[in-house]
Amino acid sequence: MKLMQTQGIIKQMLQTLQDDETFFPKLKGEQREKAFESSQEILTTTDKVIKSYIRVSKDDGRIIRIPAYRIQHNNIAGFYKGGIRYSELVNEEEVENLAVLMTLKNALHDLPYGGAKGGVVLNPKDYSERELNLVSKKYVQRFVPDIGPTQDIPAPDMGTNEQIMDWMVGEYKTINPGKNYLGAFTGKSIENGGARGRREATGKGTFYSYFWLVHQWIGKQNNLTFHDTDKVHSKQYEKLTSLYSRNVRGELISLAVQGFGNVGSVAALEAYRNEELRHCVVAVSDNKVTLYNEKGIDIPKLVAYQSETGHLPHSREELVSIGVEAEIRGREDVLILDVDVLILAATERQITEQNMKEVRADLLVEGANSPIDAAADHYLNQESKVIIPDILANAGGVMVSYLEWKQDRVTEFYSAEESLREMSRQMADSCEKVFSEYFDRKRDGIRQTCFLYSTKRLFTLLYKQGKLF
Ligand code: GLU
Repeated sequence: MKLMQTQGIIKQMLQTLQDDETFFPKLKGEQREKAFESSQEILTTTDKVIKSYIRVSKDDGRIIRIPAYRIQHNNIAGFYKGGIRYSELVNEEEVENLAVLMTLKNALHDLPYGGAKGGVVLNPKDYSERELNLVSKKYVQRFVPDIGPTQDIPAPDMGTNEQIMDWMVGEYKTINPGKNYLGAFTGKSIENGGARGRREATGKGTFYSYFWLVHQWIGKQNNLTFHDTDKVHSKQYEKLTSLYSRNVRGELISLAVQGFGNVGSVAALEAYRNEELRHCVVAVSDNKVTLYNEKGIDIPKLVAYQSETGHLPHSREELVSIGVEAEIRGREDVLILDVDVLILAATERQITEQNMKEVRADLLVEGANSPIDAAADHYLNQESKVIIPDILANAGGVMVSYLEWKQDRVTEFYSAEESLREMSRQMADSCEKVFSEYFDRKRDGIRQTCFLYSTKRLFTLLYKQGKLF
């Protein structure tokens, strides 16, 4: 999804709400028009775009200058919040779009945060530890006037991790002696005020959103009715019901996972170990290869290998050395396999007009942000595929970030069980409201249903805060 497309869906959702007379019935005529016009202006524009340059000396003595961003979309629901990514693909439009998605994600899950995102244009694999440390400290120096525990709270995203958050928080503390510094960043290491369970939270939440749909939600429906015009919904419902009942009868659900980083590896392991919904994980991939075995892959062995080397085995020898049986295929093969479920946990724009017709999975789960572009999203929906969108599926991370931020304010720490229990509870609430609204009201897509909920919440807050006159 690109910025204009995200803004387009927000406009569409506001129109749906404006036409719905049961939504804010007291707003009528010209006053109603004016309120919706103002809310559209506010929600489709960005509060602040900050671009800066970071100068670092490379280990070979060269000095380079790297563009860096922090973009704050809005703080209607609370302080700005969202990750910082380190990637060569970072650009202003992309970061702004991700900031808008953060606003919608936080609103969808009723978190008391607005939306922001940061980015630095670099590939962390090309940087030494010393260089990354310098970049991270300089990032804080550049953006410090806009960051803080009651202002804008960054967290990890693609290419960043708890080490980078620790460096950033350390620099923030140096610059701001005597301030509450721990709550200025989330996703830190546990020793440094981080939340137990934060590292696994996004991957576990991604798996859980899908588990919840197929196991909890479908499992408890018994007589949903569909009209002739609800072809997409009834087909999707049929597919999900068949997935569930086949599993109850003992047939394994076949699953492929694109991306084996912090999200994909955790989601794959959850699926491998889950005893209520039983899976055969037939394929996993990273940025070089797809590993495929129709009889299933030993995920725990791959997780152990990955945590030591930072990647999946890329050769026969490496596979043999850890006793994993799998065929090595091209990295994009994972997307077009004949599987029931595909978890997309790599990066954006993986399924596009180019390959959308080859996708065979019936259910797609967006662990990464924006892995399916707008054209593919439309096409797959028409084909009755079920897509659990990013702002629903990958919110486990920011949910546990919220706990981390809370615990850092009172210095009373949650256990990993407490964090993950709270995350699953919140995810279950969000899934319940989204899937029920989607199937009961036959909305246009699960993504639109999520956007509708978020837009409703943001409009209500704007109205209550007296911003729509
Ligand atoms: N970067 C993550 C996301 O896209 C986490 C953000 C946070 O914890 O603030 O949701």
